[in-house]
Amino acid sequence: MTLPVLIAGGGIGGLAAALGLAQKGIATLVLEKASQLGEIGAGIQLGPNAFHAFDALGIGPAARDLAVYIDNLRLMDALTAEEIARIPLDEAFRARFGNPYAVVHRGALHGVLLAACEAHERVTLRTSAAVTGYAQDGTSVTATLASGEAVTGRALIGADGLWSAVRAQLAGDGAPRVSGHTTYRSVIPTEEMPEALRWNAATLWAGPRCHIVHYPLSNWKEFNLVVTYHNDAPEPVAGKPVSHEEVARGFDHVAPLAREVIEKGRDWKHWVLCDRDPILDWTDGRAALLGDAAHPMLQYMAQGACMALEDAVCLADEMGRAGEDPARALESYAARRRLRTARVQLQSREVGTHVYHPEGAHAALRNTIMAAKTPAEWYDTVAWLYGSNGLDGTCATGGADT
Ligand SMILES: Cc1cc2nc3c(=O)[nH]c(=O)nc-3n(C[C@H](O)[C@H](O)[C@H](O)COP(=O)(O)OP(=O)(O)OC[C@H]3O[C@@H](n4cnc5c(N)ncnc54)[C@H](O)[C@@H]3O)c2cc1C
Repeated sequence: MTLPVLIAGGGIGGLAAALGLAQKGIATLVLEKASQLGEIGAGIQLGPNAFHAFDALGIGPAARDLAVYIDNLRLMDALTAEEIARIPLDEAFRARFGNPYAVVHRGALHGVLLAACEAHERVTLRTSAAVTGYAQDGTSVTATLASGEAVTGRALIGADGLWSAVRAQLAGDGAPRVSGHTTYRSVIPTEEMPEALRWNAATLWAGPRCHIVHYPLSNWKEFNLVVTYHNDAPEPVAGKPVSHEEVARGFDHVAPLAREVIEKGRDWKHWVLCDRDPILDWTDGRAALLGDAAHPMLQYMAQGACMALEDAVCLADEMGRAGEDPARALESYAARRRLRTARVQLQSREVGTHVYHPEGAHAALRNTIMAAKTPAEWYDTVAWLYGSNGLDGTCATGGADT
């Protein structure tokens, strides 16, 4: 019997990989640490490249059904409450990139992937199965679980996120880098969103050392709020509840309209954001990394999940052609993915510095440069990112000035 490909982690990246491989005729076994498969109840922005990946995975229609199709990406000055720039996501955008830009509920998106995996005979899902390490010989790889159980497969994909145990062994590059940026998340019913701000847009209010993002979700039933304060937080945090007063503290200096959004938030949870420098080696024989385990990034280009989806499509493409040599297929997969994802990792940091959080002359320069761009120029700037389906590894075209 042919051994399955083992996938550590059943997040968006792990499930997409399982589905993609299964569709190429490859049996997969997903090993998920948590006792239940799922995602947090917040929103996520998806560029056209994510929809190219959904199409490749055969779930394009289901993913499109979940989406709210926003009209614009809007950049606001959080101090003056004036619009700096607006990127239209209209027919011209869709015609240029072949797919829409949209926002979806994470849980619902994960649910689409999960339903497709559950319906596929070649995908097996196991929960309460934390991978702690692996060993391999020339013919197979064996993952060790926290319970001590050993599970053998033909390859192992580490899709186990920011704190990946597979990466710890494969790359051995220590803990992720703490950015010092604290992100607070809340979801509020649409009727509680200030009426003046019920925009059909992904809106970013950029201010000194802080920013606010909001957009409608779930067929306009609610609004997603993601607000970030660069408070030099020293330790990583993931999803801990936090008081409203603590959130508000970072936004005293922004315009009243922007602060109103903060006042509407409730049941806040916070994350201290981490990322890593890009690396070239994502593989070790029959083991490879995918998604945040391979290229964790700050969320400032809204691309972490999009990159994980692209990884899955590329991995399936390579493994589907691998024959008896999975190690070679994994190396080809990494070679096609590493520079594109490296660019997104590094550029996400730069966007945080130069667009999201500057002040004084730096902010005035941002406003002037960004306000001067036409929609066509914006489209040229993002063409390397949104125009690719992840298979071609595009990283070298288009402007880097965002
Ligand atoms: C505030 C914020 C906003 C964001 N906004 C966007 C956005 O708008 N657009 C976008 O594209 N991306 C966005 N991202 C990034 C995106 O959320 C991630 O890049 C994406 O979820 C990564 O998916 P993944 O499957 O690689 O990892 P994860 O989602 O972290 O999944 C990893 C899975 O592995 C499991 N696991 C962990 N350790 C083990 C183990 N040892 N063994 C087995 N299982 C294990 C975990 O329980 C989890 O289920 C945002 C991130 C943040 C923090």
